[in-house]
Amino acid sequence: MIRTDNLKQPLRWGQIGGGKGSQIGYIHRDAAQRDRNFKLVAGAFDVNPERGRAFGVEELGLDADRCYDDYKQMIEVESKREDGIQAVTIATPNSTHYAISKMALEHGMHVVCEKPLTFTAAESEELKEIALKHNRVFGVMYGYTGYPTIAQAREMVKRGDIGKVRIVHMQFAHGYHAEEVEKNDPGLAWRVTPEASGPSYVLGDIGTHCLQMGHLISGMEMDSLSCMRKSFVESRQLEDDAHVMIRYKNGAVGTLWCSAVAVGNVHDFKVEVIGEKGTIRWWDEHPNQIEYAPLGEPFRKLDRGMGYLHDAARFERIGGGHPEGLFDSWANLYRNMGHAMIAADNDAQQELASIWFPGIDDGIEGVRFIERCVESADNGSQWVNV
Ligand code: NAD
Repeated sequence: MIRTDNLKQPLRWGQIGGGKGSQIGYIHRDAAQRDRNFKLVAGAFDVNPERGRAFGVEELGLDADRCYDDYKQMIEVESKREDGIQAVTIATPNSTHYAISKMALEHGMHVVCEKPLTFTAAESEELKEIALKHNRVFGVMYGYTGYPTIAQAREMVKRGDIGKVRIVHMQFAHGYHAEEVEKNDPGLAWRVTPEASGPSYVLGDIGTHCLQMGHLISGMEMDSLSCMRKSFVESRQLEDDAHVMIRYKNGAVGTLWCSAVAVGNVHDFKVEVIGEKGTIRWWDEHPNQIEYAPLGEPFRKLDRGMGYLHDAARFERIGGGHPEGLFDSWANLYRNMGHAMIAADNDAQQELASIWFPGIDDGIEGVRFIERCVESADNGSQWVNV
């Protein structure tokens, strides 16, 4: 599932957003460059051009002429340079993803974009078409999916260890925003503002992670859903808590809870897949293990890096027992995306199709999920087809 070999040459790489003090910029830079598969050479890091340039030059050591005022200038100039960037990561608020991705693809760049991908599924579908037309790779940073334990869970479901799946329970419920903390936190203020965040807060911000992970492990397609959403902090325009019931096409059922007001919870991103013959569960705060209970037996822990794991889960960086974490998961995904980009450049379509990474279809699915949840919740939680 995840390659263990690195690229012969790093890809020349740029970053849009992810400036100083941003939540997610640092992990992109660390993960992409961890294995020398990407080399940061350009950036438009900040909505404030001066701050972005200063950050790029003084703290990241980039050439001043490759730190740009905004993404338009960066894409225009870099696409004309002989040594211009080959790939770009977009780590800006949600409202900008569509326009920046579109422009980058149309200028021949591979794209790694943050989730939720766009405001509407139609926009995400359009990005897919543009990426296909230009033979560009489009990764979407569902960053928790690069863990060996996730590969193990997937394989166990696939080979029937838990039998036919009956129930998927997904949750990402933290308690950081149980009060109106956005007053002093610009990183949260945009998340609860529809113009910047889109039609949802927690459904898009964390619910999409749950959905994508549930789909990845169980392999099941949604049929319909019913959603209830609410903002407990009254000043917020967008929900800070949502509950979704899901019917899958094969008759299985699911529940998804995403919340920013779950006082006492730290992250609590958990996925539990329950089948006729067993259950597998994963918790992002303990990513080096999954728990597995065969029918009639108690839960046991399966540890990363152990000989009893499936071959597809044997891609750890350091032997079992030494904990790996989110940075390693992201680096694994960047490695696969890098290989995919080179395969696309070489028009090696068969190889490209064989390399897994969270991509544009995951992005589309996430945005469609948000759309359907909003439609359901805003119409008395009625069931809607997905
Ligand atoms: P943030 O508010 O902390 O940081 C956003 C950064 O983008 C800032 O540096 C800001 O100056 C910059 N920026 C804003 N508009 C810009 C523009 N037009 N051009 C260039 N730079 C611009 O936000 P964040 O928490 O880092 O979130 C960014 C994106 O990443 C969001 O889409 C969010 O949903 C996503 N995210 C994903 C994960 C994940 O696990 N994959 C985790 C957190 C955030």
